[in-house]
Amino acid sequence: AAKSLGRNNYQIYEVSAEQAQQQNMALKSGLRHAEHNGELRVFYQPQVDAVTEDIVGMEALVRWEHPELGFIGPGFFIPLAEETGLIVSIGEWVLRTACKQAQEWERKFGLRLRLGVNLSAVQLMQANLLEVVASALTESGLDPNLLEMEVTESISIKAAPNLVDNLHGLQRMGVRIAIDDFGTGAASLDYLRKLPADRIKIDQSFVRNIGVDPDDEAIVRATIDMAHRLKRGVVAEGVEIEQHLQFLRANRCDELQGYLFCRPLPTPSFEKLLSERQRLLASVAAEE
Ligand code: C2E
Ligand code: MG
Ligand code: MG
Ligand code: MG
Repeated sequence: AAKSLGRNNYQIYEVSAEQAQQQNMALKSGLRHAEHNGELRVFYQPQVDAVTEDIVGMEALVRWEHPELGFIGPGFFIPLAEETGLIVSIGEWVLRTACKQAQEWERKFGLRLRLGVNLSAVQLMQANLLEVVASALTESGLDPNLLEMEVTESISIKAAPNLVDNLHGLQRMGVRIAIDDFGTGAASLDYLRKLPADRIKIDQSFVRNIGVDPDDEAIVRATIDMAHRLKRGVVAEGVEIEQHLQFLRANRCDELQGYLFCRPLPTPSFEKLLSERQRLLASVAAEE
C-alpha cells in the first residue's frame, strides 16, 4: 500500500509540476505579445517629503492587464520577462511611456516631480542602454535631472563589467541612480562603495518591522545615518502606518513611499491627485 501511495503521490506531483510549467509557457508566449497588444500599463506611486508630506516624485510600476486573467503584478511576470529577454523591450516601453507622462504632467501642472523607473540587470548589461535612455529623454523633453533609475542589489558587479560604466554614463547625462531594496542584497556595502548612487531606497522588509523588531529599527537608523554621511539621499519603501512615518521622520529619512500615503495608481487617478494638489496650493496662495 505504501508503494502505491508513493507512486500516486509521485504522479500527482508530476502532473502539477507539468501544469505549472505549461502555465508558465503560456504566460511567456502571452507576454511576447503583451506590449504589441497594448496590454501593459504603467502605474505611478507618489514619493513624499518626510517633513512636509508633499509629493516630490513618483515611481513607475508596470502591470500586465491580461485579457483573461486580469491584472498580473510585476513580481510575477518580470522574472519571466528576464528569462526570455523580453524585459529589454518591456523596460524600454515603460521608460518611454513614463518619461512622456512625467513631462506632460510637468507641462500641465507646473510640477517638477522626480520620476523613478526600475532597471533590470538584463537592461543594465545592454551595450545600447545609454542611447535608449538618451532617446527617451529627447523624445519626451523630460529634464534628465528628474529621471532616477532604480537598480537592485541582486546584480553581481563582477558578472557584469559594463554595468558600472553604464551607471557612470547615466550620471554623466544628468540622470540619477538609486539603489533599490537596499539591505536585502548579498553585497549591500560593497554596492554602496562601488556604485555611483545618488540615493538609496530602504527595503520594505525593514520598514515593516518598525515598532516590532528593535534590531530592524537599529538597521533603519544606521542605514539613514550611513547614507547621509556618504552624501546620499534616503527613501523608505513600504511605509504603511503612522508609526513608520513618525520613526522615519524622527530619524531624518528624506522621502517616503507607501500605502500610508497612496497606492500605485493608474494614470487618470494619479492625474486627479495632482490636479487636486494644485488646486489646494492655489487656494493657499490666494489666502496669502
Ligand atoms: P520595487 O521597485 O521595490 O517597487 C516597490 C513595490 O512595493 C511595488 O510593488 C509597490 O506596489 C509595493 N509597495 C509600495 N508601497 C507599499 C506598501 O506600503 N506596502 C507594501 N506591502 N508594498 C508596497 P509592485 O508594483 O508589485 O512591483 C514589484 C517589483 O517589480 C518592484 O519592486 C520592481 O522590482 C519590479 N518592477 C515593477 N515595475 C518594473 C519595471 O518597469 N521594470 C522592472 N525591471 N522591474 C519592475
Ligand atoms: Mg523600485
Ligand atoms: Mg524596492
Ligand atoms: Mg523590488
